[in-house]
Amino acid sequence: MIKTDVVVVGAGPVGLFVVHQLGIIGLKAEVIDNLDKIGGQCIELYPDKPIYDIPAIPECTGESLTKSLLEQIKPFKPNFHLNERVQEVSKEKNDWKVVTSKKKLFIAPNIIIAGGVGSFEPRKFLIKDAEKFENKSIFYSVKNKNDFKNKKICIFGGGDSALDWAIELSKFAEVTLVHRRNEFRGAEHSAAVVKKLNEEGKLKIKTPYQINSIEGGKKIDAIKIKNEDGKIETIKTDFILGFFGLIMKLGPIAEWGLNLEKKTIPVNTENFQTNKKGIFAIGDICTYPGKLKLILSGFHEGALAARACFKIARPNETYRFEYTTTSKSMQERLGVKKSD
Ligand SMILES: Cc1cc2nc3c(=O)[nH]c(=O)nc-3n(C[C@H](O)[C@H](O)[C@H](O)COP(=O)(O)OP(=O)(O)OC[C@H]3O[C@@H](n4cnc5c(N)ncnc54)[C@H](O)[C@@H]3O)c2cc1C
Repeated sequence: MIKTDVVVVGAGPVGLFVVHQLGIIGLKAEVIDNLDKIGGQCIELYPDKPIYDIPAIPECTGESLTKSLLEQIKPFKPNFHLNERVQEVSKEKNDWKVVTSKKKLFIAPNIIIAGGVGSFEPRKFLIKDAEKFENKSIFYSVKNKNDFKNKKICIFGGGDSALDWAIELSKFAEVTLVHRRNEFRGAEHSAAVVKKLNEEGKLKIKTPYQINSIEGGKKIDAIKIKNEDGKIETIKTDFILGFFGLIMKLGPIAEWGLNLEKKTIPVNTENFQTNKKGIFAIGDICTYPGKLKLILSGFHEGALAARACFKIARPNETYRFEYTTTSKSMQERLGVKKSD
């Protein structure tokens, strides 16, 4: 069980900056995200694209903004719990109890939901039995490539992830790349490498094919794939990897008893609290009259929500407004070296 001042749901840009705002006023945060990486939409959807409207940064990319935000919160040493979806939120005396998909338990007086458009989840195989084999023989991401050493693997998809993993895993596994079209969507260079490996007999390409059925007991033994003419082929395989892109789902947030408005959470603009005391919503997930779904708006919302969290987490202390420029305590928390 992890006790903290604030549980932050979502490690997008807004979730990251609120860690800073909490940190400078002396509050500890634990950050949970369903993705395997930090950065939310900035990293998942547009890491290389330029952003021109972050205050005082004329131009940055999704990736460089995430790196800078991480650098800025380094002094507060936040713990990140990645690959974990926040499932349940319930009241526990004066605190909130938060349980993740990995059954990790957090107790905190405050929760800040910075969940963007909901959790990013992989598009999955829709055929019978796919769920039964999930996380045993079917995976939608690679956590440890060594798990696939000397195994037979069928990789599905035509985008960058499918191509990159086909190239990487073909170095030490028997890979078949299956795609429903003849053309690959991923980078031209990667598609060319995959085709060359196919010609050299180092991996097999099967296009235009789709999965038709799975055979096996506890583990997968083989799969059947089908092309547009109805031709069916059987491939013996140990594992299936599916890379069909991500979908965004509001997911369990909808079940926490919060008021919702078109998949967003209404908040007041005084402190961005929801209809539940101690649960705040900031960034793309919140709504109020005039809301702009911009990163800079999320930063402001986080600054106010953090101060409201202080009042709940430290009911016997008085919150004092201070500037980082002149506040000794804030500078100490930031680890700023004093000049002589
Ligand atoms: C192509 C594109 C270009 C953009 N360009 C700009 C721009 O130029 N300027 C600008 O200001 N904005 C831009 N935006 C919008 C900007 O990216 C969003 O406003 C911003 O990412 C919102 O940040 P956030 O932290 O609120 O949410 P997100 O970035 O969406 O992050 C939310 C995180 O919460 C996680 N999450 C959700 N639910 C759960 C759960 N139950 N458990 C665990 N984790 C959960 C998600 O996995 C996700 O990582 C752009 C967006 C796109 C798609």
